[in-house]
Amino acid sequence: MSCRPAAVTGGHGPIPLCVPRDRAKQAAGTGARWDAGQRCFFWDSGIASIPENGPIRAFLPFRFRPDRRPPYVRPWMVPQSLWGWNLRAMLRREDWDRIRRDAYRRAGYRCRICGGAGPDHPVEADEGWAYDDTRFVQVLKGVIALCPDCHAVRHWGRSMATGKEQHVLRWLAWINGWTYAEARVCADEAMALWHWRSGHTDWTCDIRWVEKVFGVRPVADAMDRAAATQQGLIALARQSRDGEMR
Ligand SMILES: [Zn+2]
Repeated sequence: MSCRPAAVTGGHGPIPLCVPRDRAKQAAGTGARWDAGQRCFFWDSGIASIPENGPIRAFLPFRFRPDRRPPYVRPWMVPQSLWGWNLRAMLRREDWDRIRRDAYRRAGYRCRICGGAGPDHPVEADEGWAYDDTRFVQVLKGVIALCPDCHAVRHWGRSMATGKEQHVLRWLAWINGWTYAEARVCADEAMALWHWRSGHTDWTCDIRWVEKVFGVRPVADAMDRAAATQQGLIALARQSRDGEMR
């Protein structure tokens, strides 16, 4: 049985939409249906019926956008020397909360990739890093809302260490319309890239995006906090690896 998603097959089925609350009227005007139970707008008529350049397109998760091709999500791991250099560690708590909640709101509390929502909490904040592999700089490009499953794909190394490997590989395959073997190849390539990047220890981290967009600066002891977080993450990874070897 094929489990290829609608975006690949062109098949039908309600498409969940990322609609911020303050754009609900606009979404309703496009013909989208509000589902009060799921607190989400849906497009019921399938991909083929989405008007060319219509306003509905702004609300479509990546997986359903006609101009996007797979992979819609893939593992994207932070080099080990930058573990801990995340916004949660480097910003004041209230600044990080403002940034991540803004990402949730803009997505209508739905995953930007698949339109889904988690059972315990709907979405999580994912930092979108770009990597300059010649100057060894990790640059923040934005923060987006992802469901826990898509987020677990992005953090593939952590997912493997916490026993979620099979589930996450199946999710990676389903979202991208791949076979399980194709998902495995993608994950292995991502891991090889992570090993290569982690072989360099002179990475720096550029988070000027938060200042440009939110007027926020890192806390004075950001480097110390990042380093402390990094030590904790390395200890956890070591524990997990040792556990597997026992
Ligand atoms: Zn998702």
